[in-house]
Amino acid sequence: MFDALHINDLTLFRSSLIDSFNHIDHAFSTRLGGVSPELYTSLNLGMNVGDKDDNVIRNRDLFLKSINASQKQLACGVQVHGNRVQRVENPGLFDSTDGLITHTKNIILAIKTADCVPVLLYDPGHHVLAVVHAGWRSVKQGILPKSVNIMSSEYGAKPNEIYCAIGPSIRSCCYEVQRDVADQFPVDSIIRNNDRLFMDLVKVIKSQLRALGLLPENIDDSKYCTCCHDELFFSYRRDGAQSGRMMMAAVLH
Ligand SMILES: [Zn+2]
Repeated sequence: MFDALHINDLTLFRSSLIDSFNHIDHAFSTRLGGVSPELYTSLNLGMNVGDKDDNVIRNRDLFLKSINASQKQLACGVQVHGNRVQRVENPGLFDSTDGLITHTKNIILAIKTADCVPVLLYDPGHHVLAVVHAGWRSVKQGILPKSVNIMSSEYGAKPNEIYCAIGPSIRSCCYEVQRDVADQFPVDSIIRNNDRLFMDLVKVIKSQLRALGLLPENIDDSKYCTCCHDELFFSYRRDGAQSGRMMMAAVLH
């Protein structure tokens, strides 16, 4: 279950499943709060989408403060819809990276999204955290098995002890795809509506995670569609290239 939190002018979401553990903080941003003007109203956390850098820096400060963190601790990938997963022991900006893993305390792992699926993976017993930017290309390229395998092989994580939160993302109600994309995914993840095809990417992600050994009850899905909820979320599909970006951020303590 996801809970909405109102901190100052910001509205954030947290997974109650992940929040039940003591040594991790996390949050999923919404567009509410912050200082960006139209078209980015108002908590745009993405650089290079047309908003002023100063606004983004101010917004990131506001958001990270909500999890008692600062930008100096931020580890982010330059996201390219690939399957590169980096082990991170220091803050910084990591080239061509859609997945980040750490067991180091006080480093904020962050993923920026505006429709793609933000996935948080956490093994509390082995104190290892991963964040994944899971768009269809990355999912197709196996970024989730790769992340879980690194958590296991490098940090001793056990898939049946990994807890997962799946944040707001575009859902099958709005995610129309062309046949060339649909054909790359299991038929049970494609919904046909007259001549149109819609993909349930979260279903693909959950089934990959279960196949890796994660327990269904350890997967917490926000169920929010970014494209349906204009009042809460940015959506690339709905708003185009100038859409703002949300952030999923998580930190070990
Ligand atoms: Zn929708």
